[in-house]
Amino acid sequence: MARGAEGHGVGWRSLSRLMGVLRSGRPWGRRRGDRRLWLVWRGVWLFGGVFSAGLAIGTSVGLLLGSGGASRGLATGGTAEGGPTWESVSDPGLPPVAAALPDSPPAAVPASASRPGPPPAAASGVPPWQRYAVAAVHADGRPMIAVVMDDLGVDRPRTARTIALRRPLTMAFLPYARDVAAQAAHARAAGHELIVHLPMEPDGTNADPGPRPLLVGLPREELLARLGADLATIGEYVGVSNHMGSRFTSDPEAMALVMGVLKERGLAFLDSRTAPTTVGAEVAERFGVPFAQRDVFLDNEDSPAAIRRQIQTVEDTARQHGYAIAIGHPRDATLEALAEWLGTVEGRGFALVPLSAVLRAGGTVRAAQR
Ligand SMILES: [Zn+2]
Repeated sequence: MARGAEGHGVGWRSLSRLMGVLRSGRPWGRRRGDRRLWLVWRGVWLFGGVFSAGLAIGTSVGLLLGSGGASRGLATGGTAEGGPTWESVSDPGLPPVAAALPDSPPAAVPASASRPGPPPAAASGVPPWQRYAVAAVHADGRPMIAVVMDDLGVDRPRTARTIALRRPLTMAFLPYARDVAAQAAHARAAGHELIVHLPMEPDGTNADPGPRPLLVGLPREELLARLGADLATIGEYVGVSNHMGSRFTSDPEAMALVMGVLKERGLAFLDSRTAPTTVGAEVAERFGVPFAQRDVFLDNEDSPAAIRRQIQTVEDTARQHGYAIAIGHPRDATLEALAEWLGTVEGRGFALVPLSAVLRAGGTVRAAQR
């Protein structure tokens, strides 16, 4: 480490300087023996002083670097020796000195992965649902189609295949997926828009929403804690959607709690509409949260023929209402159908847009629809 080298540098330079003094030391007019003695004493005194100074400087530098290393270890949950994990390059509390350390993890993860969770909306005045929107083509009167891909992050190979599809799609990542921040950052870098796919309580007992879902029976503090943790898993996203949630989205009180947080953070809500009883639209409106809802599930039936029929419904809906929001999943049949269709969708007179484009146009499109 730098401590030894630093101490050596100072000591060596001072020693040279001392040698110079010793070499040029002459005009004292003392006897030869006294002068030699004085020179020896002077040499010892100077060398001792310089050596102490060198030691002091070396120690201080060492302490500084040492404390930097220590807080780095703390900030990253003690992963310093564990090699590069996304947490170790991502903690916003990381002291700047750590970035310059030679043993910093390599930048294998895009920089955009480095800040999970959007900063407060007040930071720039532009809410995240607009700030992190990806660029969209001008629809110029063409019907808009937004394709949202749900449940991403858990099946990594199929998530990667989804990211490779034609942009811009909207990618809904499950907060509990491993390395979800890095996967989402890759999706964002590829030109897709991001949302967090919040696990919410389903109806019945045979559906499993995954770990730490939002449940209507949870105390308010626990709900807020789980929601806060979910919202901190990826960066640069425009909003959230519900994963499952037939029960949760039908509960006005539970949804009000979620919408309050979304409003505060400047995030949008996409209602997957897993239940006809969902209160998403009315609660979002009450809180002034930008809102959209799913029109068509592409792959409730996992067969190429069924998916083609659903794609036809998406086009019909878009022509009829000015836009359509489709939701699909990272499964083989869906990915194959999308790879084919997405290449033709612009040529067929539609504008393929991210969710935020529908949110922006939502007012006028909805008004025209009534
Ligand atoms: Zn889902």
